Amino acid sequence: MGAFLQAAAGAALPYDAAMHGNDPDVLIIGAGCAGIAAARALLRQGRSCVVLEAGGRVGGRAHTTTALGAPLDLGATWLHQADDNPLTAFVGDHLDHDTVRERHLHLGARFATRAEFAEYWRAHRAFEAALQAAPLAPDRSVMEAAPQGGPWDATIAHWLGSQINAMELTGISLEDYVKTDLDGPNLLPREGVGGLVARLAEGLPIRLNHAVTGLDWSGPGVVARGDWGEMRAGRAIVTVSNGVLAAGSITFTPALPAATQAAIAGLPMGLLTKIAFRARGADRLGIAPFHSARRAVAAGAEPPMSWVFWPFGADHVFGFVGGARAWALSRQGAAATEAAARADLAALFGPRAEAALGECLVSDWGENPHFRGSYTHARPWHHASRAMLAAPLGGGRLCFAGEACHARFAGTVAGAWLSGEAAASAA
Ligand SMILES: Cc1cc2nc3c(=O)[nH]c(=O)nc-3n(C[C@H](O)[C@H](O)[C@H](O)COP(=O)(O)OP(=O)(O)OC[C@H]3O[C@@H](n4cnc5c(N)ncnc54)[C@H](O)[C@@H]3O)c2cc1C
Repeated sequence: MGAFLQAAAGAALPYDAAMHGNDPDVLIIGAGCAGIAAARALLRQGRSCVVLEAGGRVGGRAHTTTALGAPLDLGATWLHQADDNPLTAFVGDHLDHDTVRERHLHLGARFATRAEFAEYWRAHRAFEAALQAAPLAPDRSVMEAAPQGGPWDATIAHWLGSQINAMELTGISLEDYVKTDLDGPNLLPREGVGGLVARLAEGLPIRLNHAVTGLDWSGPGVVARGDWGEMRAGRAIVTVSNGVLAAGSITFTPALPAATQAAIAGLPMGLLTKIAFRARGADRLGIAPFHSARRAVAAGAEPPMSWVFWPFGADHVFGFVGGARAWALSRQGAAATEAAARADLAALFGPRAEAALGECLVSDWGENPHFRGSYTHARPWHHASRAMLAAPLGGGRLCFAGEACHARFAGTVAGAWLSGEAAASAA
């Protein structure tokens, strides 16, 4: 089987180590989805590359841990819009989550009745239809087009904003939102999305613990620098998150053009923090595997979290807190986030939750200097920033890739992967 076909089948790509030494054709900064996809594409083209990764692992925001037993994703969880998702071709054992999950709405300490849920779901569909039908104007936020004042509208806005887009709808460009909106099917790989992505990185020329602090693209090639030394190449593909770029963690020489800097500023990182608990004892709270719990927003209470119980029958529950509340908790630290999550679950199950839930894991995407957030949204006025950021600079000598750069699948592993492949062609 040739290298190209092996890639299509998801097998590791063989490469000639001597060809990917200290003077490759292309340097790739970051070994997340975009960097891995770019490296695979370059190898398929017969070009040499080296991936420089700041952290001690591959996968970036796709990261599966087994710290609680079964595979658990601390970052990307679902392969959204599976029919168009480039990673679907590689996925092994998996479930279509839309077909197995039972969606529930919790009102305070009780479940919504069947009639209440049907009413909520109707309102949800009407809310989404209103956004899709709203006239687009560059300055409009999603909230300006959203239905307001209905009994479920605040709950729906919270779900679509903080819990899905990691940012309140008031801060998101309507045009970008509509253009990047996703539909099912949503696949759940049993090995985890991080496990899948790590498998796709096997055999690639990746150097871990190689943080790049400076990138000179003054020409004719590029030079990357860090504590580890320096490396030259013909071209560079930069895949670090917009949080890392906005923090100035990499000094570019010459400075990036004003349009690129404006694009980075227009695509800030939202925050979605993931929290997981391992079950303690035999009590599963009377809840079936794949029960998906959304909570109704209540006046005067903290914005609620959402939960998925016992996926694949595993002994853990995972949940999310997003938007402004996630940033506030992230600044206070993991212990504060865990305490808030325990309180959120106690609001559903009372003291039974505390007895049934043991060890806790909290993701650190907000404070981790290799990410500084979970994924991007476009601010109002900035719907064109993704294309702007993806535009090659210096005749292809410097390209950006990553979820922020994809105008259709922004914020997802699919967008990161496709933008990595596109950058490999452009570089
Ligand atoms: C909680 C959460 C839930 C999510 N859920 C989903 C989901 O269900 N489905 C979905 O499709 N997507 C989801 N996403 C989004 C998805 O994970 C990202 O869009 C995607 O993984 C981004 O890939 P990337 O290659 O663009 O960036 P990254 O994964 O951030 O890769 C960039 C890499 O660059 C490295 N790096 C940083 N600084 C430097 C430096 N100075 N030098 C060298 N390397 C550096 C980082 O360590 C990282 O490995 C989720 C994300 C989070 C955080």
